[in-house]
Amino acid sequence: MRVYFDYNATTPLAPGVLEVMMDAMDLKNPSSPHKEGREARNLLEETRGRAANYLDCRTDEIYWTSGATEANNTVLEGCWVKKGSLRNKILITAVEHESVEKPAAKLRKMGAELHFIPVNREGEVDLQAYSSLLDDRTLLVCGMLANNETGVVYPVREMAKMAHARGALFHADAACAVGKIPFSFANLEADLLSFSAHKFYGPKGVGALLIRKGISPEPLFIGGPQERGLRAGTENISGAVGLAAALSFALENMDEENHRLFLLRNKIKRGLQSLDYEIVFHEHRSWQLPGTLNVAFLGISGQTLLAHLDLEGASVSYGAACSSGSLEPSRVLLAMGVPEPEAASSIRISFGRMTTDEEVTALLRIFEKVLRKMRKSVA
Ligand code: PMP
Repeated sequence: MRVYFDYNATTPLAPGVLEVMMDAMDLKNPSSPHKEGREARNLLEETRGRAANYLDCRTDEIYWTSGATEANNTVLEGCWVKKGSLRNKILITAVEHESVEKPAAKLRKMGAELHFIPVNREGEVDLQAYSSLLDDRTLLVCGMLANNETGVVYPVREMAKMAHARGALFHADAACAVGKIPFSFANLEADLLSFSAHKFYGPKGVGALLIRKGISPEPLFIGGPQERGLRAGTENISGAVGLAAALSFALENMDEENHRLFLLRNKIKRGLQSLDYEIVFHEHRSWQLPGTLNVAFLGISGQTLLAHLDLEGASVSYGAACSSGSLEPSRVLLAMGVPEPEAASSIRISFGRMTTDEEVTALLRIFEKVLRKMRKSVA
């Protein structure tokens, strides 16, 4: 039996998602004025309305994109290009995903003053340091809603209010939060927000950027009127339909489901602790996603452990999926003050809706076998 514990990289599809996507796959161009075009447009807009309902935002605040990466790039570049001459400062937390960090670093080369908001050993943002970095020259603050490597949840509402008090915009990368924790764009205070459908049981290659009315970043893609001029290119209707269906699935019984995941997480923690190996969890004592567990096996390379677990039938991850080809220890853990050897010994175990108690038992059995084998090879 193979067990999949890499839900933060991507989840399995929710039941029924593939079917509704197949039904929408052969629709015609929603920009065409003829009957077939109007049919496609109607479904796309009806889907936007449903998604708005789930996300608690206005229909005209949703812009479909290819995912969080595109949305994050649009926010950073688009807000920078539109900026007035007085504001040239960008603040991002030290634990942002690369799709925020890299575009921010690119803007630094173009003259932006970039600052990283520090976090502590539990991953918590230092609000005092944040407050002293904020000033009237701050253009944009980026703070993720939940971290993809550790599952630490961030106080985005409070951070957004602080940014607004200085006249700055606030963007939240919610790729690891939408469909996982209760969410309302109306209550969040963020001006812009990004996510990808494949993190909550939807298809890959589709997501959205939510933009509060009245804010208009410069588009990244030009050459068409789609998405009210923010994102040129024929819309991915089947992707949007799949996204909305998956969102409905992810929101169903969320509280009960999170409680179940919390119990599974405790079972994994207890199981790993009983393996008689020196381990360290990287987590927050209360602001923590239940389906993410980041753990270091001191003295073992995380990459090697991952490879052995894979051979024995368990899929986990070393850092973020997008950088798991890299041998570098996690930037996120280093920013939390985790020493480099400990960061290099860390793996991420992530799970969700389809994960069963039997799979957790199987995972723990695989860990036991792998560690026994690795010990023998060292002895
Ligand atoms: N932000 C976060 C926090 C993520 O975890 C990811 C995906 N790993 C992204 C952005 C980018 O998502 P995508 O690759 O779907 O564009």
